[in-house]
Amino acid sequence: MKLQWLGTAGFKVEVGDRVFLIDPYLSRNAQARPVQSMQPAEIAGAGQIFITHGHFDHLHDVPAIMASGSSTVYCSETAAATLMREGVDGSRITTVGSDGFAANFGAYRAEAFFSRHVKFDIPLVARTLWRIGPRYRRLSGMHRGYPVGQVLSWRFTIGGYTMHHFGSGGSPPEELERLAAHPPDLLLVPLQGHSHICDIAFEYVRVLRPRMVIPHHQDDFYPPISTAVDVSPFVKKVRENFPGTEVKIMAINETITL
Ligand SMILES: [Zn+2]
Repeated sequence: MKLQWLGTAGFKVEVGDRVFLIDPYLSRNAQARPVQSMQPAEIAGAGQIFITHGHFDHLHDVPAIMASGSSTVYCSETAAATLMREGVDGSRITTVGSDGFAANFGAYRAEAFFSRHVKFDIPLVARTLWRIGPRYRRLSGMHRGYPVGQVLSWRFTIGGYTMHHFGSGGSPPEELERLAAHPPDLLLVPLQGHSHICDIAFEYVRVLRPRMVIPHHQDDFYPPISTAVDVSPFVKKVRENFPGTEVKIMAINETITL
């Protein structure tokens, strides 16, 4: 299996001759760092696209990717409505309406679980508004056009290997404890949206006990809405407390083989 980080919460996964995408978002803006030069058409050969929630930094480029290929998309009802508004044919959308949704794609199996969005804390909101300043009207309009909807986390089973992807870090303890009945080999955990996100992400590792963890979404994908998140306190805490869990930091567009 090959895993490529596309920036934000986006990943491309290759399993044999199958390719699927999770939350692919490439367009960013001119100030974003690192720079993403990949175009939607370059990943349009994917068979399936799985979406965690409806925010623009997870959904915005999906219509462009789908327009260049024949992929189908799996998402919440709210995200589906946004995609159809943006011109995606409803016959290519599968809405996930229940917790525990599962589908088999030959080489791999995908399961969706109801999850929650991280609650932006007051200091983070204050710092963000300060950075945005007079651009608030334009940027908040864009945010409103991409409502969150039901948040999903996705578990992929590939042979005997499991990988669990979260697009936002709002999972309450009971959700993580339930998912911990099947500890993933690989955890993809987002580090964005809260002043204490390193501690929040550490909780995912503490409860789910993956063999490997890859932090993502820490990049400065849409300044001034975003800033780069320093993940080093998270990395240090995992290494100190769970030396058996490998922490891998990926560079944008880097591909690893698992
Ligand atoms: Zn979000």
